[in-house]
Amino acid sequence: MNTEKVVIIGSGCAGWTAAIYTARANLSPLLITGAQPGGLLTTTTTVENFPGFRDGIDGYALMSEMQAQAERFGTRVKLCSLVEKVEFSSRPFRLWVDDEEVRAETVIIAVGAGHRHLGVPGEHELENKGVTFCATCDGAFPRYRNQPLVVVGGGDSACEEAGYLTRFGSKVYLVHRRDSLRASKIMAERALANPKIEPVWDSVVEEVLDRASGHVTGVRLRNVVTGEQSVLPCAGVFVAIGHVPNTAIFRDQVELDEDGYVRLLGGSRTSVPGVFVAGDCADSVYRQAITAAGMGCMAAIDAERYLAACDSPVVEQVAVP
Ligand code: NAP
Repeated sequence: MNTEKVVIIGSGCAGWTAAIYTARANLSPLLITGAQPGGLLTTTTTVENFPGFRDGIDGYALMSEMQAQAERFGTRVKLCSLVEKVEFSSRPFRLWVDDEEVRAETVIIAVGAGHRHLGVPGEHELENKGVTFCATCDGAFPRYRNQPLVVVGGGDSACEEAGYLTRFGSKVYLVHRRDSLRASKIMAERALANPKIEPVWDSVVEEVLDRASGHVTGVRLRNVVTGEQSVLPCAGVFVAIGHVPNTAIFRDQVELDEDGYVRLLGGSRTSVPGVFVAGDCADSVYRQAITAAGMGCMAAIDAERYLAACDSPVVEQVAVP
């Protein structure tokens, strides 16, 4: 069986950047996209803070450009494929991709993060029946037109989703568990200045209603300061409360921290020499498209140097990244 020099798992900013760099280093990387090629950025609207695009760029377009650039230099892509299992305890590393085994000298983990769930009654049962995690994907559905909508969260995502939904809803309630937003100043100010957005401070969703009817009719809220409960009628609940790293398949294979992020041991190194990591699955702090891209670049350079060191006849004396 052929052993790949570099296998990259994930197709967000980190994965594509790692692919561009390793492809340009003539390592002919194999990139496995995961179920959602392009990652979370394909579900956003305009990306305004990626350097080089003064008018912003559509998230999907940005990812398509990165993919085209990676392929131009020889990246091979396994589209919509999922890595189901990995075995990093022996060399070469082994990965099972859609039931097929792939072997690799180095692996770059760039699997990103998924949406955090509220974990309240009704959320799961009414998913896609009024509960959603992506305004850009679902906001234009007829069921939300001219209806009151709820966005849960206080970060940039929540503000962005709320702003986007004002195009469709009659009103957008921004339900946040504190009395000030976590979002960046510009996003927070933009949201609070929008006459169609009404913040609901100090409040948490206790239940999404109405499971009996099979679609969303409202949310049951609890004010965390007064303890008061109330029902806020709405046709849609857009959950935007952050993310959790997609690292379940790496548990027991590389060291993770207590929140499930891959532990970084300097640069892009993980606890397994030859396995590198980049992007949101290893970053609970910055979580930006540009930082993920930068980490992808670092992982590619580290993988390239690792391979060069392994090929060197004096491998024991070479500082392996
Ligand atoms: P985030 O910054 O982690 O914010 C999550 C929000 O959800 C916080 O306000 C948090 O409340 C709240 N929250 C968390 N768990 C909750 C729970 N169980 N119940 C109720 N509320 C809960 O996540 P994000 O907004 O998705 O942003 C992630 C990263 O992407 C950030 O770095 C952000 O800057 C970036 N981003 C950038 C853009 C842009 O620039 N266009 C757009 C979207 C995201 P607390 O504040 O009380 O913790």
